[in-house]
Amino acid sequence: MRNYEVVFVAAPTLTGEELDAFIAHVHSVVEGKNGKVLKVENWGKRTLAYRIRKFRDAYYVVLSIEGDGAVIAELERRFRVTDSIIRFLSVRIDQDMKRAEKIKAARQSSGGRCARGRPGITSTGPGRGRPAGFSRARGPIETRSGNMAVPRRFTVRRKRVCKFCAEKITFIDYKDGKLLSHFIPERGKILPRRISGVCSIHQRQLSEAIKRARHLAIIPFVSD
Ligand SMILES: [Zn+2]
Repeated sequence: MRNYEVVFVAAPTLTGEELDAFIAHVHSVVEGKNGKVLKVENWGKRTLAYRIRKFRDAYYVVLSIEGDGAVIAELERRFRVTDSIIRFLSVRIDQDMKRAEKIKAARQSSGGRCARGRPGITSTGPGRGRPAGFSRARGPIETRSGNMAVPRRFTVRRKRVCKFCAEKITFIDYKDGKLLSHFIPERGKILPRRISGVCSIHQRQLSEAIKRARHLAIIPFVSD
């Protein structure tokens, strides 16, 4: 059995009763394919990050479903043929959750240290036995800061800490638009990790989460 998270976005023209009826319909579809609906989260009406079919707001419903691929295939088919469903997304989550658990367990056994990455980078002390005045990768700063390159010293020296490692977030939630919006500057581009300092593992999760959130109109593709 697999666990899925299914989010659908329904047109605001539906009444509350119609939405409830549709959710009940989803239940029967899932049970018809030997699946189980574990949880229903109705977020109610929310403002869309961009207009879809001229709607500015819509209902968001998040479902946790246990079942196999056939359940999801049937559910997606229903969503596609239902006019009032304007967006949907189904994500298999059991593997991600398992991986998150594993990382958590590894971290606990290694004594509170981050499972990946060296602790020296995040600490303020002189990491890894290099004499002070040496930057991490480029050798002595003095050779770099000739006549022209003086501002570089500041960029090299910026202390960068992966926010997700620091806060011990092992699964980046694509439904958390507020968290994701920190990593999308004015133009709407995903902030590169050379600037944000996010580690490569989390950057990959982050970009995936941002793309999912954009699809569901939780965050915009471009800002205006
Ligand atoms: Zn990280």
